[in-house]
Amino acid sequence: MIETVTVPAESFSDEERERLALHFTNLDRPVFGLVNLPETVKGALFARYSRYQGTLRRLFLDEFADSVPEVPPIEGAEGKRAADLYERIFLGYGDDSVAQLGGAHIACEWTSNLLTKLLQRPRLAAYLEQSTRYIAYDDRLQGFGYRYHRDARFGPQYERALDDVFDTYHRLLEQTTVWVGDRFPRGDDESPAAHARAVRAKALDLVRGLLPAATLSHVGIYGSGQTYEQLVLHLLAHPLAEAQAYGQMLLEELQRIIPSFVVRVPREDRGGRWIEYLRERRGAADAAVHRLGLDEPAGPAAPSVRLVRAHGTEEELLAALLYESAASGEEDALQAVAALSRDEQAALLRDLVGTRENRRHRPGRGFETLTYRFEIVSDYGAFRDLQRHRLLTCQWQRLSPDLGADLPDELVRAGLGGEYERALEVSRSEYERLRADGFVEEAPYALSLAYRIRYVLELDAREALHLIELRSGREGHPSYRAVAHELRRAIAEVHPNVAAAMTYVDEETEERLERLLSEMRNDAKRRPRRRSRGSSRGRSRTARTAFRHGRGRPRSTRASAVSAARSRRASSTSCPRGRPAGSVATRARPAPASFLRASTRCHSRARRPRRCRRRSRRGTRAPERRPPRRAP
Ligand SMILES: Cc1cc2nc3c(=O)[nH]c(=O)nc-3n(C[C@H](O)[C@H](O)[C@H](O)COP(=O)(O)OP(=O)(O)OC[C@H]3O[C@@H](n4cnc5c(N)ncnc54)[C@H](O)[C@@H]3O)c2cc1C
Repeated sequence: MIETVTVPAESFSDEERERLALHFTNLDRPVFGLVNLPETVKGALFARYSRYQGTLRRLFLDEFADSVPEVPPIEGAEGKRAADLYERIFLGYGDDSVAQLGGAHIACEWTSNLLTKLLQRPRLAAYLEQSTRYIAYDDRLQGFGYRYHRDARFGPQYERALDDVFDTYHRLLEQTTVWVGDRFPRGDDESPAAHARAVRAKALDLVRGLLPAATLSHVGIYGSGQTYEQLVLHLLAHPLAEAQAYGQMLLEELQRIIPSFVVRVPREDRGGRWIEYLRERRGAADAAVHRLGLDEPAGPAAPSVRLVRAHGTEEELLAALLYESAASGEEDALQAVAALSRDEQAALLRDLVGTRENRRHRPGRGFETLTYRFEIVSDYGAFRDLQRHRLLTCQWQRLSPDLGADLPDELVRAGLGGEYERALEVSRSEYERLRADGFVEEAPYALSLAYRIRYVLELDAREALHLIELRSGREGHPSYRAVAHELRRAIAEVHPNVAAAMTYVDEETEERLERLLSEMRNDAKRRPRRRSRGSSRGRSRTARTAFRHGRGRPRSTRASAVSAARSRRASSTSCPRGRPAGSVATRARPAPASFLRASTRCHSRARRPRRCRRRSRRGTRAPERRPPRRAP
């Protein structure tokens, strides 16, 4: 059975409904398709989404309706010829790729930050999501309240806790805006409006870590039929009720626009079996993780970037770059390159990369022969941004408070750190309560974006160059800028000439970025360089770190860990798809109230580079010369 979701209601006047009806597949649901519009207008609507506070249909009325050219309406029906053809070759012969030949623009509104990541998981689609840097999420919608995902099963405590976090976000946003305005006075060459926008963006950046993962956003998707088929199947198979509800709504809208491409999904023997397979696959992984004792939190609580493995050598890179111009085979190219001295190889690579006038001038496909698998711990906010990159493999774990949270230094200096930490603690407590009540999948809704998540990015050197240069830009958020810098540093250790080709990495740092980099580098130093699987030395080290930060038991108390894990498992297996199942065991997880302080402020003090410590001893700094920049 498909669950339902509670979303804010939107109302339109009769005249507005008439204007909208031709261009949107429905006017009363949060998932709808864009039809009878020029392709560029659909794209423009999505492009504006990022910084527009409202919904897409309202945006259309506000900004586009008056200038839309007359387009003859296209009936939703495909006609007999096309429908028969798809019936034969898509459904009959199983020629999947024909579903790549047509697509649709679909908007998914009022989606939680957990769901946005699921919607953006398919790689062969284009996405746009509302920004947390330009939009304040502190408005109370009429008849709904703050913008967060609701579920009656979570009880009134959930709404009390999340209202508290949003109230704090609202207060801190106002206070931080004033503080940033004082600290970054307007330059003579800057207009008051531009300065106010830049100040607001900086303040939004500083407080966005408070927003819970339940925060509702809008996502625009442009994808092919094949991508949508996969997306719907994965959503329907997902344990979150919200994902299932959106999967069903998405399917219904696609059936109006590209019915033949999603024809397999509702058939029990096709889509039905596929969904079962996806669930079985997930179940098998969960069971194996439990059997192997991998379901207990382990690993560093600081932000970190670790190169798990790299494939390929710089000689192989050179041979691959020469390959398409050569008439001989790869082996010959490898031999010719191996005969060169190190300096000659480095010079050849510089030649083959050529003069890059801007970051869009990318080296050739040969760069794709080198690959890197990185394991990253960063706040959820940075993960949200990095997960949007398409040409890589991104795998992420469930969001939890086990890896600690990040507290921006500026908020501490503004005297707002205590309030921020208190709200994070409210968010963590609500997470723990939901988990203890059996809502294992749903508990992360309550967690703020400042909490850290562990994930993998596996990518080739060409995509690494693109991602690192783009994400190091000073317009970006310090938390993902820090990841970008560390990715390059790790690549430089194995492939120095590849790192040297990344000439558009923005080196300019600022205090928060420096602090994050310092935490990541200290973490890399502390970590044993080669930890063999099951090594007792590695384990006891991890255990001490975990215990110090109050986020679990030392690994040596294996018996109690396993029994706690079992009682959790009992709660999750007795509640299919995370639904409450009467009485469940409460988690035995010691979490002292000082937890946040330990995992945020202690880090920032103990691991701050000497240069920063000296600076803070000198007291408050004079206002910055450079005003905060506005991201594109
Ligand atoms: C400062 C900043 C602010 C941002 N703000 C927002 C925001 O408010 N909202 C938001 O949703 N996103 C935002 N983004 C994310 C951005 O829109 C992209 O999602 C992200 O940068 C990854 O896309 P990419 O195409 O650059 O690179 P990748 O996904 O890494 O792809 C690499 C390359 O592959 C090619 N490629 C990838 N996908 C396609 C495709 N579908 N069709 C054709 N070619 C493709 C392109 O050449 C691309 O450069 C922001 C990014 C930055 C740096």
